[in-house]
Amino acid sequence: MFSRRDMLAVSAAGAIVTANAAHAASFGNPDQPPQGAINAKAPGNLRDPGPQSEALGKQFPSAQFPPATDIGGMPMDWASFNNAPKRVQNGGWARQVTVEDFAISKEISGVNMRLTAGGIRELHWHQAAEWAIMTYGSCRVTVLDAAGQPYVADVNEGDLWYFPAGAPHSLQGIGSDGCEFVICFDDGHANEFNTLLVSDWFAHTPPEILAKNFGVPAETFAKIPLQNLWIFQGTVPGDLLADRAAVSKNVAAAPYPFVFPLGSSRPNKESRTGNIRVADSTNFNVARTVAAALVTVRPGGIREMHWHPNADEWQYYIKGKARMTVFDTGPNAMTMDFNAGDIGYVRKNLGHYVENVGDTDLQFVGVFRAPRYEEISLSNWLTHTPPALVAQHLNIDEATIAKWPDNAPGLMPKS
Ligand code: MN
Ligand code: MN
Repeated sequence: MFSRRDMLAVSAAGAIVTANAAHAASFGNPDQPPQGAINAKAPGNLRDPGPQSEALGKQFPSAQFPPATDIGGMPMDWASFNNAPKRVQNGGWARQVTVEDFAISKEISGVNMRLTAGGIRELHWHQAAEWAIMTYGSCRVTVLDAAGQPYVADVNEGDLWYFPAGAPHSLQGIGSDGCEFVICFDDGHANEFNTLLVSDWFAHTPPEILAKNFGVPAETFAKIPLQNLWIFQGTVPGDLLADRAAVSKNVAAAPYPFVFPLGSSRPNKESRTGNIRVADSTNFNVARTVAAALVTVRPGGIREMHWHPNADEWQYYIKGKARMTVFDTGPNAMTMDFNAGDIGYVRKNLGHYVENVGDTDLQFVGVFRAPRYEEISLSNWLTHTPPALVAQHLNIDEATIAKWPDNAPGLMPKS
């Protein structure tokens, strides 16, 4: 015999729905007790009479009033360079957001740096690999690989560089107004203010050792700086080809470029809603520990519901206004707002989507501590699963499911 509950679970249309679905709260409003501003009926419920900064609060409408579908509590996934203290020196500045500042960001530490024309980030190296994207102007980079092969290149807006851990390098602003860029280290603890600096090592080595090491008299080193330089103003370098000739000497040049023109590369996905460009070790060979996707979304468009199976996603918002929701077990769902200069973070395998909620293009770059870029699209999964199986889960007929995108579009337009 059917129980009353079993009878209820078979709808008039004959579709089988679960007892849970039959008992769910209203559409778009799933929780009991109901959550969200739409359910706040009491007088004064939505007022916030306490002390507050209106200017700051207005940047976070989704935190002030989350959608009714948000639930639970998730670790903060928003940070920003906008309020990160700058270390300013003559020749440029930098500010950083490490895991010490942003607890969720365990795989990546981020740095935002400006160098004047001629401004030098001194010769140094790191225990982590360094990946970067140019956001303004031009920069000359130098690096030596582990086979002793030198490399010098000029990078412009939209270009990347990647220096493996331990590869010694320098950066210098060129052109009329130098440059600005964002660096990601493949370690959330990496600290740009505390790196292995050439000036520090010289100053902390006995002069007689320097004399022996370099095969010149100790007096050669009488005028070395006794404090490190980190960033300092230098002279704008000359022709790139002259620098390349000067470093080549008796060795071959490095076989693979340490830079990649991501911003001008052919998009992996392109539609009227925008485009997605990817750089990882398959096209940017040296980038063995960092992959990246540069995403541009037109107004009203959405970066489709997806997740990344092989790494956390560290995001830098370059322009426009974004709203991202992240979904986790629990269930948990949290929506947050992002503007230019902000950082977002999504842990590996957590579902997420990003909407362009402004009236201009949204652009952000997702950075992953992984050799390959990988994503799984929700619609691609559900359109490559037997339709009857999907239909029984969602109580949606197969003909409608057949209309869903089955090509992992990456971006979808305003509906
Ligand atoms: Mn560096
Ligand atoms: Mn993503």
